[in-house]
Amino acid sequence: MKVYIGGKFCDEAAAKISVFDHGLLYGDGIFEGIRAYHGRVFKLKEHIDRLFASAKAILLTIPIGHAELMAAVVETCRRNKLREGYIRLLVTRGVGTLGLNPNRCFNPSVIIIAGNIQLYPREVYKKGMDLVTVPTTRNLHSALNPAIKSLNYLNNVLAKIEASNSGCEEAVMLNAEGFVAECTGDNLFIVKAGRLYTPPLSAGALYGITRQTVIDIAVESGMNVTEPNLTRYDLFNADECFLTGTGAEVVPVVKIDGRVVGTGKPGPVTQRLSAQYHALTKASGEPIYE
Ligand code: PMP
Repeated sequence: MKVYIGGKFCDEAAAKISVFDHGLLYGDGIFEGIRAYHGRVFKLKEHIDRLFASAKAILLTIPIGHAELMAAVVETCRRNKLREGYIRLLVTRGVGTLGLNPNRCFNPSVIIIAGNIQLYPREVYKKGMDLVTVPTTRNLHSALNPAIKSLNYLNNVLAKIEASNSGCEEAVMLNAEGFVAECTGDNLFIVKAGRLYTPPLSAGALYGITRQTVIDIAVESGMNVTEPNLTRYDLFNADECFLTGTGAEVVPVVKIDGRVVGTGKPGPVTQRLSAQYHALTKASGEPIYE
């Protein structure tokens, strides 16, 4: 595998960064998870837009421009002969001193890894997933805004450990007010009486690119989509529930905190939206090859 680091491509074994990089020392940096389907990078512009938005929020200057970064992602896929895969794009604050002040970090590093991912076992997509609400709540906006896709993912990691300890693949994360925010690496949706609901971004969700894509697909097909505050009660009493994410795609959820959701099987709306999402991944994206 060839990894892009700071404008150069190097072999996987040689792809290393300094122990003085503040990305390692403090989780000071940002990232994106992107997918390629059928020789095209899906929603690349949206991912790069979000990366620049995260950078702005943490006062990090990405050393290359938007178009150049898009081209670098495509080139990394090409060098790895990737047609289907998962791309991890990171920008770290760069090498600095041991103190946390980033003012001595002069060269943020841009890293692009193009590989593969299988987040959840295949049968989860057929049978549906079991979720558990975990004690770790989502970060506060006023502390570390969950809209920033930062390299400091400990909030999510802790919630993931708690879900695993309860025998579940994913965690429902509530915000400090007790409203549903999202899962550790996915946004959450419910279907009730033919309408689609997902927590508002202000509840502490990431501005999910899959979330927005699914909203657009649903609206286009005439569905009513709203973003109200949701409680666990709303999840338990939904007709259907599913998760969205670049890595996860569309995952049906059939049980939450021991309550069977709907029929206990992946629902028809979930299946339709998932099929339409996959159709879109086949029909669009930034071409990797001529
Ligand atoms: N929430 C969190 C916390 C995430 O890390 C992610 C991305 N893995 C998502 C939601 C889904 O976002 P996207 O659809 O843009 O991948």
